[in-house]
Amino acid sequence: MHIALFCSACRAKHEHARPQNVCRSCGKPLFAQYDLGAIRDSFRPAMVRTRPTRSMWKFAEVLPVSNPSRAVSLGEGLTPLLRGQRQGPFAGFENLWIKDESFNPTASFKARGMAAAVTRAVELGIGTVALPSAGNAAGAAAAYTARAGLKCILMMPADTPPANIIESVAQGADVYLVRGLISDAGKIVREGCQRFGWFDLSTLREPFRVEGKKIMGYELALDMQAALGTPAPKLPDVIIYPAGGGTGLVGMWKAFDEMQELGWIGSERPRMVAVQAAGCAPIVHAFEAGQESAEPIKNAHTIAAGLRVPGAIADFLMLRAIRSSGGTAIAVTDGELMAAAHELARGQGIFACPEGGATWAAARKLLDTGWLKTGEHTVLFNTGSGLKYTHLEKLPDLSVLDPADDNWHRNVRGT
Ligand SMILES: *Cc1c(COP(=O)(O)O)cnc(C)c1O
Ligand SMILES: [Zn+2]
Repeated sequence: MHIALFCSACRAKHEHARPQNVCRSCGKPLFAQYDLGAIRDSFRPAMVRTRPTRSMWKFAEVLPVSNPSRAVSLGEGLTPLLRGQRQGPFAGFENLWIKDESFNPTASFKARGMAAAVTRAVELGIGTVALPSAGNAAGAAAAYTARAGLKCILMMPADTPPANIIESVAQGADVYLVRGLISDAGKIVREGCQRFGWFDLSTLREPFRVEGKKIMGYELALDMQAALGTPAPKLPDVIIYPAGGGTGLVGMWKAFDEMQELGWIGSERPRMVAVQAAGCAPIVHAFEAGQESAEPIKNAHTIAAGLRVPGAIADFLMLRAIRSSGGTAIAVTDGELMAAAHELARGQGIFACPEGGATWAAARKLLDTGWLKTGEHTVLFNTGSGLKYTHLEKLPDLSVLDPADDNWHRNVRGT
């Protein structure tokens, strides 16, 4: 397999057979490029669908791996695309879908990116990786490096959810807490890489995490084809995505271009919506101001740890995808996103993470303003499990029943 590496901004080519981070001339993210012409006839949707592989490595031809049987895998990807039940607050949507990424190993879609990046790191002979994480990336990095036998250094803001810290330590990573935000943790990682020779696995400062996340775009096209019975892979009208670093959003955008080059889809694209938290919405501000890049947010705050990214290196790529798709960027408050997560739990049976809740809060707003039409095929991404965020919830005040009390049934409500 031959992968070329080129800069997503200035297009400069980079040697792919050795470890690389950002572009050496302009500092922007590097992207992998496959010889799609060479696999166009063999890498077909029907072939992929019938392949027995039960993970995202079904799509090995467009992933950074020389020998797919050596992929570092925990069964990531192939998450369900669930149809929204039309009840309660969801009744106004005729064609709502939820891609439920909480099914992934380590209970978030960060598993996809880490599977790809750690697989490639092993092929390149890298021994120690380091990254900043305010949440799920840490647990996923710890899991995949544990499996691959690599050393993993994690720099985590001190207010990272306890579940993410605990799972990272449990899976053998070297964890340090950092005073500040993920951007401060990232600065320490970059200095540590200089000083100790660690390999920087920060998202989009490493070329392959985005490759793992892009597979969501391929899966979505096959999921919708199966659900709607269309003759060819099909994309929805609108994708609503909770954007932090933007890896999944720019990854899927890249996947759509690849699928078009492969002849899987035409030139149509979903309208891409980036949802951010009101206390940390750099992309929303830049989108509204008509800017091509985003100003970093000072004093960024939100309880949705995955959205607590004050400045993203892929800002210009997110803004480009949003604009050229006719999409939009929208902020929701912490109150709105938590309330929406609870609605997903009660109305859909999906105990969503706060970031997943944000996509539903955005969908309701966009339907109210008329930006979204009721019949449009709209896909929400629930990017992780609510089980990692129970520290945000108050344990409810419940009746305690005493089995020795013959009148226990008097305490049962609604009978
Ligand atoms: C990391 C994360 C996000 C943001 O993902 P990007 O692709 O980097 O924008 C959203 N939700 C959850 C649960 C996350 O862990
Ligand atoms: Zn460049």
